Amino acid sequence: MRITDKLSARQTFSLEIFPPKGELPLETAYRVAGEMAADRPDWISVTYSAGGSGNSANTVPIAAQVERGLGVTALAHLTCLGSTRADVDAYVRELNEAGVENVLALRGDRRPGREARDFAHASDLIAYLRASGSGLCIGAACYPEGHVESADERADFQALYAKQEAGADYLVSQLFFDNEDFYRFREKCLRHRVRLPIVAGIMPFTSVKQIQRMAFTCGASIPAKVVKRLVLAGEGPDDQARAGVEYACEQLEDLAANGVDGLHVYSMNKPAVAHAAHEALAACGYLGA
Ligand code: FAD
Repeated sequence: MRITDKLSARQTFSLEIFPPKGELPLETAYRVAGEMAADRPDWISVTYSAGGSGNSANTVPIAAQVERGLGVTALAHLTCLGSTRADVDAYVRELNEAGVENVLALRGDRRPGREARDFAHASDLIAYLRASGSGLCIGAACYPEGHVESADERADFQALYAKQEAGADYLVSQLFFDNEDFYRFREKCLRHRVRLPIVAGIMPFTSVKQIQRMAFTCGASIPAKVVKRLVLAGEGPDDQARAGVEYACEQLEDLAANGVDGLHVYSMNKPAVAHAAHEALAACGYLGA
């Protein structure tokens, strides 16, 4: 089912998984996906070579398993930096054969030796997917605190508007730890004529190290209230992870109460984290309304 159909019917709840790194078998991802599917999320997204992991070959097989094997809508990510039109055509064919109707069209992070070939920006990929008659439902990324490479806010909203005009159907946000950033961003979108549905992305942090790494790579700021939570939680890994999940659930409940179009949990291949988010949202009446 197309994600736009879900977004027009209700406030959505979705999860993300990433393909196993290195030599880990695909079965690991299938098991994680199976456990996450038990809560019947609106969709499960599957990343594409995220963080420069290079593990893009497994995105479609995992998305196919989610869609056909588990009966949950799959959203397959695709990055375009370094790709040719022929590469994209081949990926679209794979998606069609796998019965996957949804793609998240991204540029991908810059890294040495990865130069633009046929696509410089995500909006180029979106326009190509639209013009090539792929028939896919196309999502795109947005950044409540701005993209790390953008010189200023104007550049950010120009890029976002370009994605909308190229044919994106909806947006999924980068993670953020302060909901006020998201609310401000949502208002600014309207001022900049960006009118697409926005799914808010929340990542339950599991340790100090992890939150530091994510903040650096994603450009998300860490508010003092999060630092305090971590300090009060203590140094044990379980205590920190528990504090992270509790904080994320509070964020989700607040977003739910403030009319968000959809909630996406960066569950980092941890079914228990995904389940905790699901339980919090069920308890506050967000799900099944
Ligand atoms: P773009 O929209 O191309 O933006 C990148 C930068 O270029 C921005 O600073 C923008 O302002 C600027 N820009 C855009 N258009 C123009 C223009 N016409 N002229 C000048 N400047 C312009 N990465 C992965 O590798 N795999 C994944 O699976 C993955 N999943 C993600 C999922 C989500 C929800 C998000 C938010 C990010 C994800 N990423 C993933 C990370 C993403 O690839 C990076 O954030 C990347 O740096 C930017 O991608 P983009 O699609 O937003 O690019």
